[in-house]
Amino acid sequence: MPLPSREWNTGLVKLNDDVYAYLQAKGSWGLSNAGAINGKEVTIVDTLLTIPMTATFLAEVRTVISNPVKHLIITHHHSDHCFAAHLLSGAVNYAHVNARSEMIRKGQPDPATHQVLHPEGDFTGVRFTLPHVTFSDRLDLHLEERSLSLHYFGAAHTIADIAVQLPSEGIVFAGDLLFLYSTPVAIEGSISGWIAALDKLAALDAESYVPGHGPICGRDGVIASRDYLQLIYEAGKQGFNAGWTARETAVRTDIGAYKRWANPERIIANMERLWREFRGEEPISNMGNPQTLISEMNEIAKQGYWA
Ligand SMILES: [Zn+2]
Repeated sequence: MPLPSREWNTGLVKLNDDVYAYLQAKGSWGLSNAGAINGKEVTIVDTLLTIPMTATFLAEVRTVISNPVKHLIITHHHSDHCFAAHLLSGAVNYAHVNARSEMIRKGQPDPATHQVLHPEGDFTGVRFTLPHVTFSDRLDLHLEERSLSLHYFGAAHTIADIAVQLPSEGIVFAGDLLFLYSTPVAIEGSISGWIAALDKLAALDAESYVPGHGPICGRDGVIASRDYLQLIYEAGKQGFNAGWTARETAVRTDIGAYKRWANPERIIANMERLWREFRGEEPISNMGNPQTLISEMNEIAKQGYWA
């Protein structure tokens, strides 16, 4: 399957009679995707950044699925994948063990600090909901109609990213392991780990991958995302060895066709992450306040380095 169109809309996409992706155009900060899997017991994959956004998603799901939602899989602890999980408080909530510990470590959010992610958003009432079920490497859910395999491939976009595989249907909900036409970003995590994780994601050989941000794609989309990270890794290694700073290297790196992906300025965060990685720091080592970093990147982007 070739790469999908760069034009996609917000809304439900039917993958088969029982499986839907909910996409949000254009996949920029806070505009993540989610999923709904029908059965006697419905499974939802991720909630969205705010309560109104999640309510819209769940109302669309209700137009095609009427059974009760019994399972909620959270692909990682970032705001745009779990901040409204309490809207599905009747469901059992699953996540990686590190997602749960990161929610506890970060503590309940101050809604105001998240406004930078989505300036028009209504953050009233957002919060973390601690998962009921956690796992380390793999968890299989054997539901009446199908089994779901939840895979953890190591530190990547964060230290808690999981992919949700529907093996019998050739579908994978990749969470933020996969970005397409929206630049991958690691404010925490590991760039080298992420490259390895995307190789494992590609090896699942699904027909359809639902990214955390971007349109539905095949294996080629996974490879495109992997190749961006490989490019950044190699440019970063050269800059680091030459004694440049992460920011100098970021603005000097020719990202080629990835200039057309949204938010190319995320290379700044990625290089900062890489510098910590090259120095041997842990994947959750501090990069300062993420909202401050995002604001700085937005300012630097205006200078047109990657135009
Ligand atoms: Zn994320």
